[in-house]
Amino acid sequence: MSDLPLDLRKLLEDRARQYTTEHLESLKDGKGTVKLRLKCSDGFVVETVILEDKTGRRTACLSSQAGCAMGCAFCKTGTLGLSRQLETHEIVEQFLHARKQDETIGNIVFMGMGEPLVNFENLMKAVRILHEPSGCGLGYKRITVSTCGLSEGIERLALETPSVRLALSLITADQGKRESLIPAARTNTLPRLKKSLLAFQKEKESRITLEYVLLKGINDGRDEVRKLLEFIRGLDCLINIIPWNPVKGLPFERPESVRTEEFVRALRSEGISVTRRMTRGVSINSACGQLGGIQ
Ligand code: SF4
Repeated sequence: MSDLPLDLRKLLEDRARQYTTEHLESLKDGKGTVKLRLKCSDGFVVETVILEDKTGRRTACLSSQAGCAMGCAFCKTGTLGLSRQLETHEIVEQFLHARKQDETIGNIVFMGMGEPLVNFENLMKAVRILHEPSGCGLGYKRITVSTCGLSEGIERLALETPSVRLALSLITADQGKRESLIPAARTNTLPRLKKSLLAFQKEKESRITLEYVLLKGINDGRDEVRKLLEFIRGLDCLINIIPWNPVKGLPFERPESVRTEEFVRALRSEGISVTRRMTRGVSINSACGQLGGIQ
């Protein structure tokens, strides 16, 4: 800013900060995954992950809350409880810190710490800044909001917001099991959820991703495939199978590869689009469900 008077530049240098979050460290798994630990001005630590897919495409996985109140049984963040909502600038800064490490990042998923639809207003302001050409210039279709299944939030996303993509952590299409794994499923039942997904699809005309974390002996059987096929009837969706990533202290196991393959094959044989997420970032606790900053 050399066109500003020297005394004003000095004043800005003394008093203004470009970032409110401090980049504490970056942890790398050696396979393209990087976890950034960022400290907010009040001391909370949030985590942001840079992911790389099979094609080399780089995506920033952003957090929307410090901690999370949803308490999903298979997720490390869920054990922390909610500290607070992240402010809009704290969400945007995660992307800026990530892009400082890697300028090629061209996609964002809100799958980090927190349930984004609970922090709706701040999230949407951040999405607009991330999209704005004078901001970060990302197309809305490059931004995915992932929820554990809050029907009202999905409907709001459909009606009030730009065309971002939607991902849902379905986990199982068995109502009883879903309730035991995701407390929010008690009020957001599968029929209610389906209604909101159809409303989203009608409004946005875009494919929805259903995240299915595979838990050994719980949701990886033939009966689960049948229930899943029933649930997705009429939806344009991609099912993303994620073999569970271990979290110390949580009572789950990852199914054997052969079991996972069987599950994927059973869905594909019915003509369903399925991807199997590569296991990345486990060594640095940055894989799906493993985020949980030390405060
Ligand atoms: S899966 Fe998402 S919504 Fe559920 S506890 Fe973890 S961070 Fe929260």
